[in-house]
Amino acid sequence: MDKISKKICLVGDFSVGKTSLIRRFVDRQFSDRYLSTVGVKISRKEIELAEKSIKLLIWDIEGQTKFKAISSSYLQGAKGAIIVGDLTRPDTLEHLANHLDSFFSVNPQGYAIVAFNKSDLVSTTEIEEVLANNDFRQNPQVISTHVTSAKTGQDVDDIFQELALQLV
Ligand code: GDP
Ligand code: MG
Repeated sequence: MDKISKKICLVGDFSVGKTSLIRRFVDRQFSDRYLSTVGVKISRKEIELAEKSIKLLIWDIEGQTKFKAISSSYLQGAKGAIIVGDLTRPDTLEHLANHLDSFFSVNPQGYAIVAFNKSDLVSTTEIEEVLANNDFRQNPQVISTHVTSAKTGQDVDDIFQELALQLV
């Protein structure tokens, strides 16, 4: 069996749920306790896809209040990114396009998935409105957008698996 290993990055404003999405995917856990990430953490997770096994190196970037703070060295060499916004904080959604630009400027051949996280805290009507106002489909390297919850697990496996599938 082929073993391929790929770096992917979680990108998004401070406190949108990047670390929580990784914990849910890798450790099958969620915690309400606030724990902000210091520096960089790399989690490893192997996924079986058809005939291939892929090892994801999932980089968790330290949160920041302003998107500008993302260092390009964190993004360097990443084949994929999950760009995360918080459905309860419109400012974090406004920054999604900037985060996509940062990622693609460092990795022009990369692929991204957009995650609208914390779906458990907002109504379906609010979600529909956000989706209507944030359409990234004009960019073919944005392979999909998902409404996620690290708390309930909604679409969490899907974002990582879809991205992995795109990378093999
Ligand atoms: P990060 O700074 O982007 O890594 O964000 P964290 O993963 O540290 O999450 C920030 C806060 O939001 C924590 O208190 C989490 O428990 C909470 N959180 C993250 N994802 C969700 C979610 O999907 N639903 C709810 N209700 N809370 C979440
Ligand atoms: Mg974090």
